[in-house]
Amino acid sequence: TGKVETHEFQAESRQLLQLVVHSVYSNKDIFLRELISNASDALDKLRLESLRDSDLGADTSDLHIALETDAEARTLTVRDNGIGMSREEVTSLIGTIAKSGTAEFVRKLKEASENKDAAASADLIGSFGVGFYSSFMVADKVTLVTRRAGEQTGTRWESAGEGTYELQALDEAPQGTAVTLHLKPEDAEDRLFDYTDTGRLRQIVRRHSDFIPWPVRTTVERPGKGEGEDEGEGEGEDAGPQQTVETLNSMKALWARSPEDISEEEYKEFYRHVGHDWTDPLETIHTRAEGTFEYQAVLFIPSHAPLDLYQQDGKGGVHLYVRRVFIMDDCTSLLPDYLRFVKGVVDAQDLSLNVSREALQQDRQIQLMHRRLVKKILSTVKSMRTKDAERYRTFWREFGPAMKEGLLSDFDNRETLLDLASFPSTHDPEEQTSLRDYVSRMKEGQEHIYFLTGESRARLENSPHIEAFQAKGYEVLLLTDRVDEVWAEQIREFEGTPLQSIAKGQVDLDADGDGEGEDAQERSAEEQQREQDFEPLLGWLGTALGDDVKEVRLSSRLTTSPACIVGDAHDVTPNLEKMYRAMGQ
Ligand code: ADP
Ligand code: MG
Repeated sequence: TGKVETHEFQAESRQLLQLVVHSVYSNKDIFLRELISNASDALDKLRLESLRDSDLGADTSDLHIALETDAEARTLTVRDNGIGMSREEVTSLIGTIAKSGTAEFVRKLKEASENKDAAASADLIGSFGVGFYSSFMVADKVTLVTRRAGEQTGTRWESAGEGTYELQALDEAPQGTAVTLHLKPEDAEDRLFDYTDTGRLRQIVRRHSDFIPWPVRTTVERPGKGEGEDEGEGEGEDAGPQQTVETLNSMKALWARSPEDISEEEYKEFYRHVGHDWTDPLETIHTRAEGTFEYQAVLFIPSHAPLDLYQQDGKGGVHLYVRRVFIMDDCTSLLPDYLRFVKGVVDAQDLSLNVSREALQQDRQIQLMHRRLVKKILSTVKSMRTKDAERYRTFWREFGPAMKEGLLSDFDNRETLLDLASFPSTHDPEEQTSLRDYVSRMKEGQEHIYFLTGESRARLENSPHIEAFQAKGYEVLLLTDRVDEVWAEQIREFEGTPLQSIAKGQVDLDADGDGEGEDAQERSAEEQQREQDFEPLLGWLGTALGDDVKEVRLSSRLTTSPACIVGDAHDVTPNLEKMYRAMGQ
């Protein structure tokens, strides 16, 4: 057993812990859900690792979670015999917060607590989900003892949630992890916070962790013989209280149950476990396929985008199970990249337990499931749009830019995606529009869906490109997401109506339908006269601007601005140019 070393938390973790310790998060019970969720993940990982590596030498005969209480010492221990953590894992996983966006989150949380805004800080903690650190809502000291499967030495970690934690190497430790909470003395008189009471624990586990696929056990004291009724078999000699082991959860895999029997609350709790998110999902999809290739899936659309949705190394993927056995928690082969925000579980009947990541991508059954699940998700969004416009708006606000990536990569569903999409437009300063609605509002003689891309709505609205269109009462889509530049380059039409950038080529408003056809027009005498009048100016501008422009010409598109710069019909737009430059191309 090594000597005790004191380490400092990473700055962000320290701040976060401070705020959690003094948190006003209303439902303290959820710390138990978080610890059980972690223990369950650890058991999943151990089962999987021992399937893959027969030399691991870990005992997997009785995988379970135990809740151990000591009313006198006021401690609660959550113990699992799962994968455990190495010393390095303890420091990196528990001592730091890897989640991207933590700094921003901590800043907001601090602000809320300085303003004594209890509701706001509770909301923030809820939408971030502080996982293991939620222990400090109920404990003033937490001790974690762990040993990783396959390793000899264990690690003891202890902290009061202030600036530091202690680490110590242990010669002996049971495999797995035990988290002991030293409950806050100030809560001692409150029965609600008596987490050494088996009744309370049973209540919490049933409410928050019932579907956990491993037994969550606790020891209950039953009155001895003579006090209560005759309990029947198995009692010992003496008539003192008897100890029996009780499993608190039903352990039924949620996805295998019939949807009619599952309450909304159960789905939500399940989402919190698989999604590592404390908020409610926006949409739940429970689906199954029977016949030659069977699977069951429970998928969730979150109600907010994860902080790393648009980062290169952002996490994604759903949990893959094969016949109830956990295979991986970030299976990216089942859904396309643009749906990476979808969380949940897919349980496949006919895959091999040893299937590798690489093999998964090639697997025909996976491809089939992939196709069906995408269709299912898209049709769910579609019906959300018709049935619950508010919910759809939230969806599109959070995930619209990701969905639009699908326009570039998912050719099979391109039409559906275009149909699902919403875009800001000059029609309404607040509400976005679908392409279908745009088309239904098109003016007599208008043959294109017009759009303009750029950095912000305000900029686009003031762009000289737009003047003539507004003067004519033509609606223009104002596309400000980065991805818009790319898909708008590639997609030529929506259900037969061509899309046209108004920043490109010569959009001739008087003969719409011939957008780029500068040669095909017949010029009126008046126009020819005008051109002659401006000839000297155009010539002078052309020389003055030199190589910076290709051509200077008269335009009918401006009403109040004297001049504007347009791209050639096939040029990349300025915004796209910037994007390519940013990507180093
Ligand atoms: P999250 O579960 O969302 O990753 P947590 O704060 O709950 O965040 O846990 C952080 C990490 O610590 C986990 O991802 C896991 O790697 C590790 N961990 C926590 N509890 C356990 C446990 N009982 N056994 C093994 N590893 C654990
Ligand atoms: Mg967790």
